[in-house]
Amino acid sequence: MEFNSSVEFARQLDSDDPLKETRSKFIIPEVDGRQQVYLLGNSLGLQPVSAKSYLDKILADWSSLGVESFFHAKEPWMDYHDQLTGPLTKIVGAHADEIVVMNQLSVNLHLMMVSFYRPDNKRFKIICEAKAFPSDQYVFESQVRSHGLDPETAIIEVGPREGESVIHTEDIIAAINEHGDETALVIFSGVNYYSGQVFDMEAISKAARNKGSRVGLDLAHAAGNIELKLHDWQVDFACWCSYKYLNAGPGAIGGVFIHRNNHDDRVVRFAGWWGYDKSTRFRMEKGFKPMAGAEGWQLSTPALFLYATHRASLEIFEEAGWEKVQQKRRLLTAYTWFLLKEFNEGLEKKIIRFITPEEEQHHGCQVSMLMLERGREIYEALIRRHVIVDWREPNVIRFAPVPLYNTFSEVHQLVSVLRELVS
Ligand SMILES: *Cc1c(COP(=O)(O)O)cnc(C)c1O
Repeated sequence: MEFNSSVEFARQLDSDDPLKETRSKFIIPEVDGRQQVYLLGNSLGLQPVSAKSYLDKILADWSSLGVESFFHAKEPWMDYHDQLTGPLTKIVGAHADEIVVMNQLSVNLHLMMVSFYRPDNKRFKIICEAKAFPSDQYVFESQVRSHGLDPETAIIEVGPREGESVIHTEDIIAAINEHGDETALVIFSGVNYYSGQVFDMEAISKAARNKGSRVGLDLAHAAGNIELKLHDWQVDFACWCSYKYLNAGPGAIGGVFIHRNNHDDRVVRFAGWWGYDKSTRFRMEKGFKPMAGAEGWQLSTPALFLYATHRASLEIFEEAGWEKVQQKRRLLTAYTWFLLKEFNEGLEKKIIRFITPEEEQHHGCQVSMLMLERGREIYEALIRRHVIVDWREPNVIRFAPVPLYNTFSEVHQLVSVLRELVS
């Protein structure tokens, strides 16, 4: 599509948008009765209007039926989990028995590493991206130490080349090939939280498997953002949180993918009663017998309140249709990049260096801009004008127009404010 930078064109894109109605299914934060331009769905997705009513239903079941709600509520709590896995199969590209919704992201990373990071004398290394999200770094480091190993030698980080901000796929593959025989686990994010770079997860998975290593993904910034095919890519496991692009609310319940190849009773895991074979769980017998699929990694009684808000958001994805969400995401990001580049290139002295890769296959919704001057001032001015973006040291403004509730006009507004501030 040929873009142009007029405001009329932005309005036209909005009126032609097949998903224009989905915005009304979210509560857009307001100041003095005016909606903010909220561009931080990569940090905390907005609240679905229906979240409250789903929470109320759980409260109502609890008050009228007590514990009986597990079996006798109109929507029995025992089966509530299935409402979540169905929609997630499309979003992450997996079979329902490969998905379990439980705990939170950092906790799940630990649990998956108990199963899939099993170092021995020969294979003990972890290959990951440099500057992974801090929680992931702490997880890797403490896991390594729990096996009596030294993070200095056991953790191999692949970073960008000198003076660059993007990590080349060929450098990742080269590191896997170099360390492969000593590597127990290759683990990357799908989308780097800072740069917004989308990694070639399929190529990474293939290279890791060729070397006989396990492969895992952290999809915190990928789930609900970009297209994923976890089953076909044959990754061993993946974890994600549900409060970013999945809009399930602060501290939302996380998600885990475990490939069918690993659905085996003999896979080592930390066990709890909710992972026990469903049909005989309540006999309360000694000796752990896991459920067959990913649910066999559950530990605790389900968090129904968290299920409820997650369900509210997943229903919106279902109603919109995942294909359509992806189509709009591609158009919205292409438009965003067009406007930003046109603005930056029109300046005598450029003010932005993009650290997010420009190529379509290497970015999702997020754009991270290194501001070459007046960064903090521009950031603060945007916030004052209710264009909500975030700030990361040293000089980076991050934001993400998301297809479910952001509009083309909002992106136009962001760039107009930038124009005005710089002129
Ligand atoms: C957001 C994010 C987290 C946060 O983990 P929680 O356990 O949900 O607090 C972890 N890792 C990555 C890559 C993230 O983007």
